[in-house]
Amino acid sequence: MWTEKRAYMNISQTADMNLGELKAGESCVVVSVGGQGALRQHFLDMGIIPGAEITIVKFAPLGDPVEVRIHGYELSLRLDDAAKIAVTKIDKTEEAEAPKKSKKTHTAHPYLGEPGVHHDKKTEKPLPDDHVLSFALVGNQNSGKTTLFNRLTGSNQHVGNFPGVTVDRKDGAIIGHANTVITDLPGIYSMSPYSSEEIVSRDFVLNNKPDALINIVDSTNIERNLYLTMQLLETDRPVVVALNMMDELTGNGGSIDINLMEEILGVPVVPISAAKNQGIDELITHALHIAKYCEKPLEQDFCAPDSPIHDSIHAVEHLIEEKTKACGLPLRFAACKALEGDSLILDKLDLDENEKDLLEHIRVKVEKKSGLDPSAAVADMRFAYIMQLCKKCVVKPKQSKERARSEKADRILTGKFTAIPIFILIMAAVFVLTFNVIGAGLQWLLEQGIDKLTEVTDLALTEANVNEVIHSLIIDGIFEGVGSVLSFLPIVVVMFFFLSLLEDSGYIARIAFFMDKLLRKIGLSGRSIVPMLIGFGCTVPAVMSTRTLPSDRDRKMTIFLTPFMSCTAKLPIYAFFVSSFFPKQGGLVMTGLYLLGIIVGILISFLYKKVLFKGEAAPFVMELPNYRLPSLRSTLQLMWEKAKDFLQKAFSVILIATVVVWFLQSFDTRFNLVTDSSESIMAGIAGFISPIMKPLGLGDWRITTSLISGFMAKESVVSVLEVLFGAEGGITAVLGVIEAGTLLIFSLLYTPCVAAIASFKRELGWKYAAAVAVWQCMLAWIVSFAFRLIMLACTGGFA
Ligand code: GDP
Ligand code: MG
Repeated sequence: MWTEKRAYMNISQTADMNLGELKAGESCVVVSVGGQGALRQHFLDMGIIPGAEITIVKFAPLGDPVEVRIHGYELSLRLDDAAKIAVTKIDKTEEAEAPKKSKKTHTAHPYLGEPGVHHDKKTEKPLPDDHVLSFALVGNQNSGKTTLFNRLTGSNQHVGNFPGVTVDRKDGAIIGHANTVITDLPGIYSMSPYSSEEIVSRDFVLNNKPDALINIVDSTNIERNLYLTMQLLETDRPVVVALNMMDELTGNGGSIDINLMEEILGVPVVPISAAKNQGIDELITHALHIAKYCEKPLEQDFCAPDSPIHDSIHAVEHLIEEKTKACGLPLRFAACKALEGDSLILDKLDLDENEKDLLEHIRVKVEKKSGLDPSAAVADMRFAYIMQLCKKCVVKPKQSKERARSEKADRILTGKFTAIPIFILIMAAVFVLTFNVIGAGLQWLLEQGIDKLTEVTDLALTEANVNEVIHSLIIDGIFEGVGSVLSFLPIVVVMFFFLSLLEDSGYIARIAFFMDKLLRKIGLSGRSIVPMLIGFGCTVPAVMSTRTLPSDRDRKMTIFLTPFMSCTAKLPIYAFFVSSFFPKQGGLVMTGLYLLGIIVGILISFLYKKVLFKGEAAPFVMELPNYRLPSLRSTLQLMWEKAKDFLQKAFSVILIATVVVWFLQSFDTRFNLVTDSSESIMAGIAGFISPIMKPLGLGDWRITTSLISGFMAKESVVSVLEVLFGAEGGITAVLGVIEAGTLLIFSLLYTPCVAAIASFKRELGWKYAAAVAVWQCMLAWIVSFAFRLIMLACTGGFA
């Protein structure tokens, strides 16, 4: 009978409690999964299906969410959502039995596509040589897609250990095979999309129809990863399975019978280690081969013939066959989705009333026969197949070193009393190291270099008797302006270095885990912490990374929050004013500004929650990956990339802004060189806006000008001030200490730069982008004005 074959056996028929009621360390078996829609499907896809065994690992320091272990990996979910899962408690099963000494630790992997197995030499129809072979890299989050992509293409894509770091599509050619294009897709757990980036991946596979799919599977987490593989095999595209992280698996005494797995799945399976660069060449050969010869999977039918769902899937296939041809969907895939009731696919199929009735009839039959609703039945079928497969081919390590290490680290890093203090300590250390120790030290060195260079050039220009105007352009314009910004290169790079360490190591996922409860208070979920932290580096990638958020509401709210995190481009402004006005209280003022940004952001979020985005934050279901030592290679690559970005910006936008401002302030409307720049064109233009800034005590046209140029790039505020005021003493003559503070607050809060606004536009459209620009300016004005009033009142400045 079928029930005996079920993936997890021992399902006690009645639930006695829900998952949220268990204590840490207790185990249970899932009886039924409540909830509805995408969240429920997501639960099922993550392996929370009736019969699955779950162990409670721990509760977050604030009591919510909870971390559970299922299928050998860690998942976090909220108590509210856990309450939807009915379970029955079991005695903790013993740890997995010790691995049998595996007979074959590593069988030689035969060459692929042996004629006759996957395709027949006589009837083969290879794609023409000039055809550009297209590949898609598909896999779970954190399975090593980006690492592999970088290996395959030699490119420097950012690699992270937070679920969903790849948020944009990246293309590249395989090294040594110019006629190929490979696309790194956002990580997905199944072909039922849950967040907006998951839709990107699914649509790419279904609509772009790449010549072959490279399915990357984390072999240390094989059951959950193969769940996606099952669905990819159904899409009727050539597939090669790359079993990644084999170094970790074999290092812990596990092994996989590759040849047997290949035989069962009917597609090439290649063991690799993307991080250690093992097996990559073989993977490339296989991928090129299956793509060229269009070798589709031999196996698509994963239901045991006597399973309650077998007949039903075939009945649905029969029902929708014509329709799938019409809309170009793979048949088996569409049949399973239709059975699950996936609305996107059903819309595409466009069934008539009669067909809909028949489908509903089949769905009811499944429910009757299996005792599970169709979605759960399909998930159960897949997991049953996977368990069978793994039983035959996989020898699991007893306890992985990496897992044990992660658990040890988590005892402190997410411990009840230690998590939040340590988080604060770590963040403080990051800031101190960036701004006071490493970054500042390197900055000082660079500054010396730039000063020397300026001196030498100045002398050379004087000696060569260069025209006075050009001399002024080079020294007062370019060297002063760009030089002052350039010296911030080390700080920016060091900041990104630390952010990438946090992310790569897997720590940011933990921050999301224990901050979830706090963030919910302002209407967000733990996942929003990632864009916010990235926002300290730069708003543009921060806005992009919000695509990993599953709900539109959370995404919008988080995007609106990112401008409040002081990005590195604002640093030069802070530093400039600190050195001119608050040389003694530098650290205090800097910290104050960062905190002020965060506090205003939180207050504004409350407002958004009450007015714009009513309702609750999206459910928080997230994998907690093992801690991993970030690879030196990818960290260095990232730093190099950021340095390049920064230099490009310094020598394009900022250089141009500086030169334009220098020009506008050196000439009057008749293009005569002016001696007093208050008669210049710039002074005339800024004169229009200055009155608005007057109440803030910032009516001077030079200040207004610098703020306007800050819209192009925040760093140019400083370069323009340098040009307009000359040496540092200049500005202290115009502004008082209170006004300097006001200006700092204004700079902190006013409109993000053009690049950031463009990314807002990409995510939300023009209206929102324009609204953000205007709203941030208004907010900046209000807060600065309030600050000034308070300061004046306190110091008796009104008198
Ligand atoms: P993605 O989310 O799928 O793009 O995964 P990433 O490429 O960002 O990799 C996630 C983490 O796994 C990173 O910390 C990598 O260094 C690590 N990683 C990737 N491939 C391997 C591998 O073959 N072996 C080991 N031990 N770690 C790997
Ligand atoms: Mg990635």
